[in-house]
Amino acid sequence: MSLVRYQNFVDGQYVKNQTNAFFDVTNPATGNIVYQVEIADDKVKELAISSAKKGFNAWAQLSGIERSRILMKAVTLLRERNDELAKIEVEDTGKPLSEAVAVDVTSGADAIEFFAGIAPAIEGNQQSLGNDFYYTRREPLGVCAGIGAWNYPLQIACWKAAPALAAGNSMIFKPSEETPLGALKLAEIFVEAGVPAGVFNVLQGDGAVGAWLSECPEIAKVSFTGEVSTGKKVMTSAAGSLKEVTMELGGKSPMIIFEDADINNAVSAAMLGNFYTQGEVCTNGTRVYLHDAIYDEFVDALLTRTKENIVVGDPLDQRTNFGAMISKAHQEKVLDCINKGVAEGATLLCGGSNVIPENAPNGYFVAPTIFADCHENMSIVRDEIFGPVMCLMRFSGEKEAVQKANATDFGLAAGVFTRDINRAHRVVHQLEAGICWINSYGLSPVEMPVGGYKQSGVGRENGVETIKHYTQIKSVYVGMQALECPF
Ligand code: NAD
Repeated sequence: MSLVRYQNFVDGQYVKNQTNAFFDVTNPATGNIVYQVEIADDKVKELAISSAKKGFNAWAQLSGIERSRILMKAVTLLRERNDELAKIEVEDTGKPLSEAVAVDVTSGADAIEFFAGIAPAIEGNQQSLGNDFYYTRREPLGVCAGIGAWNYPLQIACWKAAPALAAGNSMIFKPSEETPLGALKLAEIFVEAGVPAGVFNVLQGDGAVGAWLSECPEIAKVSFTGEVSTGKKVMTSAAGSLKEVTMELGGKSPMIIFEDADINNAVSAAMLGNFYTQGEVCTNGTRVYLHDAIYDEFVDALLTRTKENIVVGDPLDQRTNFGAMISKAHQEKVLDCINKGVAEGATLLCGGSNVIPENAPNGYFVAPTIFADCHENMSIVRDEIFGPVMCLMRFSGEKEAVQKANATDFGLAAGVFTRDINRAHRVVHQLEAGICWINSYGLSPVEMPVGGYKQSGVGRENGVETIKHYTQIKSVYVGMQALECPF
């Protein structure tokens, strides 16, 4: 049976490339190639730039409320198609359908709804300067590029497109080559909603297409989600034309569980923050610091719930709550990291190997894995694994916990669990992380800005704050009288 081959989406439609080059996309839960995608060649890239410029000129002319009305239609279409889009995400990523129907599409739609609401409220200000005055205009940047990771493909495309389009920019988006379909469906939906051709284009390919977007002097900004090492390359390329950048990068986030925490809630957080989306979440709290006094109680509850409640298997089965790794290569990488942890002396409490579920025997599964007796110089504690691997460590005092939590180059997220409100805020204020949760973990409503400290990122996504990252201020000085001039 011949496979469907998707083309790039440019200027409001699918466009054939000239080279005929394409890549295969594999369903990680079955190991089967499910469709193919054409790679953006020079012809497609040139068309994308000219169409994004044309799209920008048309889109930026509209008033905020006109853009808002159109974007709200896209929100309705996304919500109406929730289940079919969720299935696409499951086939591309291997994550459980039970998650994708509840989170992936709705969190993307929420972002478009939020920024559509803000579009009519984008404004400048005016100040009197004696007789003269000045005013500011908050103007869009122009053509923006978005480059996405594979763990939340549609959500990432929405999180980047929403503020960009709301502010009047156009976008060329490149999804991960592992998960290319969701962004194409979003492009179709935007056109159906009435977004003019060229305002949202999708180019397909691997890092080479991403590198081209990062360099291209006609692009004003690049918003990137992916690994720290790739982010550094993107920022270096972007420097050539002094592009604005937003970098949403990796993490190795700490959770600190104090002796007075609600243990059941803290265990829920540790499980969500390590095993949701089979551990492939950037904000995961993979370094779990437990106060000596509750160490045994916490570990008992954690092991019981991990062994009894996690269902690994076919992601389309509604009972499954733990899916497949994105690819065979990633499965091998995660297993290598686990083996290193064992070799470095950590104690494996559960998991540690691949899994072959009866209903998905060819998928790339890794068992939920928990290590005890970890310390800060082990690679499993230092490096981002991006898989279901939790590291447990002990502490006895608040100062020690904060110092250990901050002992990393990453700074994406952190969690603090305690019933002492003063301590909760005191500790959070000392943590070097862009997203902190108190007695909660992983929730990321669109109202709340997200992004990293240190090497976990630059700029923010979501929240009113993000509009600043997709606009520039023009100051206009108005002279009301003749200039004083010594010449
Ligand atoms: P990755 O860095 O390998 O790839 C990300 C994207 O960059 C892909 O589209 C890829 O094709 C592209 N790319 C690769 N080389 C490039 C280059 N030289 N120039 C430009 N683009 C290039 O990351 P991944 O494996 O897709 O995703 C996992 C990583 O993403 C993890 O580190 C995770 O923590 C991070 N992530 C961060 C967030 C966040 O919001 N902070 C969210 C999701 C994922």
